[in-house]
Amino acid sequence: MIIRQLFDSVSSTYTYLLASRLGGEALIIDPVIDKTDNYLKLLKELDLRLVKAVDTHCHADHITALGALRDSTQCVTVMGRKTSVDIVSIRVDEGDSIDIENLSLRVLYTPGHTDDSYSFVLDNRVFTGDTLLIRGTGRTDFQNGDPKQAYNSLFTKLLTLPDDTIVCPGHDYNGNTSSTISEERAYNPRLQVTSAEQYADIMNGLNLPNPKMMDEAVPANQHIGFQATDPVISERTLSVDQSIDRLADENTLFVDLRESGERVKDGVIPGSLHAPYASLADAITPGGLLNAMAVQTGKNLLVYCAYGERSALALKAMYDAGITNACHLSGGIDAWKKADGVLEYP
Ligand code: FE
Repeated sequence: MIIRQLFDSVSSTYTYLLASRLGGEALIIDPVIDKTDNYLKLLKELDLRLVKAVDTHCHADHITALGALRDSTQCVTVMGRKTSVDIVSIRVDEGDSIDIENLSLRVLYTPGHTDDSYSFVLDNRVFTGDTLLIRGTGRTDFQNGDPKQAYNSLFTKLLTLPDDTIVCPGHDYNGNTSSTISEERAYNPRLQVTSAEQYADIMNGLNLPNPKMMDEAVPANQHIGFQATDPVISERTLSVDQSIDRLADENTLFVDLRESGERVKDGVIPGSLHAPYASLADAITPGGLLNAMAVQTGKNLLVYCAYGERSALALKAMYDAGITNACHLSGGIDAWKKADGVLEYP
């Protein structure tokens, strides 16, 4: 397995690049925008295909590279359900997994530093974002932070992981790179408390200055959604009402680009073909499923995903591959659900 810990010295952020093998699929956690070229170079050198970019939470001290990486690699962006970031491709809940080839991260909801903080468990390792740091913990005084929630996330979730679980934090300001759960339980000064109230007293007394980049980073990180300025996409974007009308159109074939887990959880538009975004490149080449459907049946393909990001990217890729009789559902299944569109559960 490949686990690369990458460092941004300006914000002291750790970014993690994960893959099960050279030449395979990769996932990145908490990438920093200024380092985008470095990540792309490393991906190329290791012959990795970036398929998912994940943020543990909305950052206040640096601008995320999620949007930039999506735009240059067409990867899927992932954050937790509670995020207020405008569009990410997949929103995960506690208990979900974030999967790439041969590698699965288990999602824990660990609010407190922010209300959208999540941690990810991979085998004997946990990526804690800013919830648990080495001999420290994330501040709780902005972005809907809450010290009592942080206490619960630490004591009822992270500290209940096996003792030898390796802690991979989102930052370090002292040159440490990793720790373990047992080490933090024993030696992290913030964790030597016996109640949520005691923890809140410590956190509320910190009086930290705001991060230098906060006023710039938080608004920038709220708006990373894919901007469909390309006319190829905007001309082929259907509103949810237009899409619902297409259900009765025999000439339209609905195509679901989501992963199996999302389909089970959120439902499927009846009669949809399943063509996961991860295998899109194969599906749209001659001989591939979507290529065959578009060419042989002459039907109009209406592609959709969870929020409309993957479907917009897919539309462009399909157009470039010569499949021009396609359109996508703006806002995805989320918009469909809100408009009371009919769903069935596989
Ligand atoms: Fe943070």
